[in-house]
Amino acid sequence: MTIKLYENDAYIKEFEATVLSCEECKNGYAVVLDKTAFFPEGGGQQADKGYINGLEVLDVQIKDEVITHTLKESVTVGETVKCELDWDTRFARMQSHTGEHLVSGIINTLFSYDNLGFHMSEKTLTLDPSGILSDEDIKKVELIANKAIYENREITAYYPEEQELKNLSYRSKLDLESGVRLVTIDGYDTCACCAPHVHRTGEIGLVKIIDYIQYKGGMRLTMVCGINAFMDYSTLCDNTKELMHALSSPREKVNEFVLKDHETVGTLKAEINRLNAELSKANLEILTKDNVVLGFTKGASFDDMRALVNETTDKSELVAFFSEGENGDFSYVVASSTLDVRDKVKELNLSFNGKGGGRPNYAQGKIIADKESIINFF
Ligand SMILES: [Zn+2]
Repeated sequence: MTIKLYENDAYIKEFEATVLSCEECKNGYAVVLDKTAFFPEGGGQQADKGYINGLEVLDVQIKDEVITHTLKESVTVGETVKCELDWDTRFARMQSHTGEHLVSGIINTLFSYDNLGFHMSEKTLTLDPSGILSDEDIKKVELIANKAIYENREITAYYPEEQELKNLSYRSKLDLESGVRLVTIDGYDTCACCAPHVHRTGEIGLVKIIDYIQYKGGMRLTMVCGINAFMDYSTLCDNTKELMHALSSPREKVNEFVLKDHETVGTLKAEINRLNAELSKANLEILTKDNVVLGFTKGASFDDMRALVNETTDKSELVAFFSEGENGDFSYVVASSTLDVRDKVKELNLSFNGKGGGRPNYAQGKIIADKESIINFF
């Protein structure tokens, strides 16, 4: 059993330990120490990063209460090694994890929902309350959580005796392998958890739910805490500033200005499409010979061409419309109400390095050709 230094003191950044074993493994060497402050992957949190004797710790896993560190190179069994945690990463994770307990605890108190899933990524975390929360509910939870941060409440962790545990009410009763370690946020939450947490809620700094979706009958909330929340805020401020300057908008109305522009762009796009369709109709030149109708225009989309084919011909035999592009290429639509056009289209693609296909009575695609060759082909 490895002594878990992080359980009694989550703030150990450097420590010395004795190497109990070092064995070659898939990704390098699996190293077991007599004690460690490296938190192994588990409970929704990734493994700690850092160095052992200057060698990067690639992974930390726990199995049967033995913690294994993966290193690129070997260390000597019996020697004392100097260990150093990547403290910025670890502290950010402590802020996030305690923030998650706080928010899940408040949701549990207010709505009796359990947190069914917890996952921490490098910048954000997700939690999955078991029931539906409205926009107002989420705003309320956030406000209470941030007030709890200002109250700077104490956070404690301990292993209660079995008898005591029976009479305690706490969250996360299910996912436990060995002894139950309870993490309590004074006045807000008690939850079974094996991870390192901050000492006081003030250290969480800030919690903000940045997105949420309905998920498996409940919700999935995406949240940022601590330094990650600050970085998120910083990015949003930069983005907002850029938009404010570009749109000459007041700070608090940037969204209104963007949405108004977005709407205008939509209207203009529709207008451009309409004008393009009109233009390709105006440019349309139709040649008819031996029950073949050929149409040539410029800058038309497939939708425009389909409309032109429907408007300008009765598709009696074979109708092939071409729209010239900017690089000597032609988009085509080939249609007929009486013939299967697919063989003809295959031949067209083969002759002019083209691509495309479709149904028996309709096909579309692109070829590289000039007008003269197309006319000769048909
Ligand atoms: Zn936890």
